[in-house]
Amino acid sequence: MLLNMNQLLEVAKENKFAVGAYNISNLELVRIVIEQCEADNAPAIIEVHPTEVAYCKNDFFAYVLQRIRNSKVPFVLHLDHGDSIDSVVRAIHNGFSSVMIDGSLKSWEENVAITKETVDICHRVGVSVEGELGTIGQTGTHIEEHLQKGIYTDPEDARKFVEETGVDTLAVGVGTAHGIYPSDVTPKIHIDILQNIVDQVDIPLVLHGGSSNPDDQIAEAVKNGVCKVNISSDFKHAFFDKVRTTLVEDEGWDPNHLFPACLDEGKKVVHHKNNLFGAVGKAELYYGIDPWRAEPYHDTDTLKSEFL
Ligand SMILES: [Zn+2]
Repeated sequence: MLLNMNQLLEVAKENKFAVGAYNISNLELVRIVIEQCEADNAPAIIEVHPTEVAYCKNDFFAYVLQRIRNSKVPFVLHLDHGDSIDSVVRAIHNGFSSVMIDGSLKSWEENVAITKETVDICHRVGVSVEGELGTIGQTGTHIEEHLQKGIYTDPEDARKFVEETGVDTLAVGVGTAHGIYPSDVTPKIHIDILQNIVDQVDIPLVLHGGSSNPDDQIAEAVKNGVCKVNISSDFKHAFFDKVRTTLVEDEGWDPNHLFPACLDEGKKVVHHKNNLFGAVGKAELYYGIDPWRAEPYHDTDTLKSEFL
């Protein structure tokens, strides 16, 4: 079942669990996420970054959407870190039900302007929008390379940002970083900052850089208002570790022979995360909800005045 982010996270917020948002860019990664979430009966977000969209190409999403629509488990197809109106429109064109526009590295005025423009476009067709305020740190293996340390989101600014832009969800900077942490770094999620943001903002909050944070911190963040946790490095790492050892030991060449054991390694991580977020078994809370379809984009009043 395909939903948009509002439909998905409204239920999560009410029932105090979080939904995993897993980055994919090929068939194997899609299968890991969808098949494990079906096994867990856990709702999930299939998330694609613009660089991943560029890699897997537009037509790939016809397959992803068909696979999701044929599932009894609710899924959202979401653009991760949209970097321009062009990337947002491309996602809409590809059938995504949700987008993120990331203006967090821009000035306040520019971030508000591009986020508001995205909301104006997306809400006409029923697509949800995630904004970002404050930035998410970077551990050296992912985007935003010039930022080594995250900037914490100011709770009062978060309230103003949501009011001015009309975003549906907000990614906040509370001390996580993208990628996998070096062994000498102990990450810390600042629960106090998160609580102050929750006091000011009523929409679901998003945690980026959720890979390899200690489980107890993630669980605490979920208890304190985080409804979506982004996971990319963790499950891909498990999959490709197994690919590496398999290819050394096995000189075969058929994906159907080489990959199944590798998919299983990725699935173990997805299962662990679904459990951690409290999402296992929660798909049944969505039974009876109408699947999402893009809204017709014509404004009814304009239509009437022009054509009737
Ligand atoms: Zn991110």
